[in-house]
Amino acid sequence: MKHDPAASIFDLKQFGEFGDVNPSVTDSATYTFMQAKTMTDTFHGEAEGCFLYSRHWNPSNKYLSDALAAMEGTEAGWVTGSGMGAITTALLQLCASGDHIVSSMTTYGGTFAFMQNWLPRFNIEVTFVDITDLNAVKAAIKPNTKVVYTETMTNPLLQISDLPALSEICKASGASLVVDNTFTPLIVAPALHGADVVVYSMTKFINGKNDCVAGAICGTNDFINQLIDVNNGTAMLLGPVLDPYRSSSILKNLHTLHIRMKQHSYNAMYLANKFKEAGLRFNYPGMPDNKGYETLKKMMHPDFGFGGMIAIDLGTSEKANILMEMMESAGVGYLAVSLGYFKTLFSNSGKSTSSEVPEEVQKEMGLSPGLIRFSVGLDHNIEKTWQKILECLKTSGIL
Ligand SMILES: *Cc1c(COP(=O)(O)O)cnc(C)c1O
Repeated sequence: MKHDPAASIFDLKQFGEFGDVNPSVTDSATYTFMQAKTMTDTFHGEAEGCFLYSRHWNPSNKYLSDALAAMEGTEAGWVTGSGMGAITTALLQLCASGDHIVSSMTTYGGTFAFMQNWLPRFNIEVTFVDITDLNAVKAAIKPNTKVVYTETMTNPLLQISDLPALSEICKASGASLVVDNTFTPLIVAPALHGADVVVYSMTKFINGKNDCVAGAICGTNDFINQLIDVNNGTAMLLGPVLDPYRSSSILKNLHTLHIRMKQHSYNAMYLANKFKEAGLRFNYPGMPDNKGYETLKKMMHPDFGFGGMIAIDLGTSEKANILMEMMESAGVGYLAVSLGYFKTLFSNSGKSTSSEVPEEVQKEMGLSPGLIRFSVGLDHNIEKTWQKILECLKTSGIL
């Protein structure tokens, strides 16, 4: 039977030591042992089910990690204090000085800055490519390429990565395919399409409450064990672990992710159709004439739609600012970065979440200064929200 990410969460039986359906939070940094030998074995990763110290593993983190691994169809997972914590921990485990990464040019701004400004300090070289140009990806691979890095749906241009094709390129060259799936949980399970490592900012859709930052890494047992190795693991030695209180609350929010993703996608598709009728320049991968439509269609789970992210292009940041301020006062949503919230959030990407990307590079990747990225909310009456947006578009003279 084909792996079903949402159903797999329901197949899990996760309850606590007292039958508590929401397992109690393990509020401990350290764990006691009855026998000294068990402690030694745990240190060497040889005592199944034993916990040693919460930077390494904590039972609350294990519940959430297991649920995420079930969702992704990977053997294991590990949860981090932020999405950047997940991305940097995974990449630094896979690469050493002298290695090379091929990355999508359009990624989250922090990821771009890490690769562009920080990795060169440790002699790790990164080549940025248009990830939808498979020939360019192939041409960028070198003998020392350890990682091909991309986002399933890229931020903020919403390009779609052809994961099966990228996986073929990686297999042929021995590189690992690392995929940030932050925009498309449940819609795409990247490991089923050949990703070796899947990373998340759980801050966004997975948690969906905007009450914390958190991240996750999913992969093979072998990879997760490398991360938490006491001698060589980046997770163990850099220490980006998530707090167990947060793991517990994110796990509860994960249980409604399937309902939320359907509503985000439904509302985004509704607005996309209205944007089209109004003649706006916009990008939504769910439109059949979108460049990424066919690619996403072949990877996606049909129950969850094309996602909650839309970008419209107003040409200049001045126009974008006027519209965003009007939409904020009209109650369309909030002028804010981040995504996956119950309210619609919008921001001007070039001046906010992608401001780490130099202007020339923004131009090269096709990021317009007038781009407004929308994270469409869970609005119950999306028609009413559209009417508010339409009013703002008219009042501002854009339509
Ligand atoms: C927000 C985001 C990140 C960074 O996550 P944090 O939780 O803020 O550290 C990484 N990738 C994508 C695609 C994001 O949207």
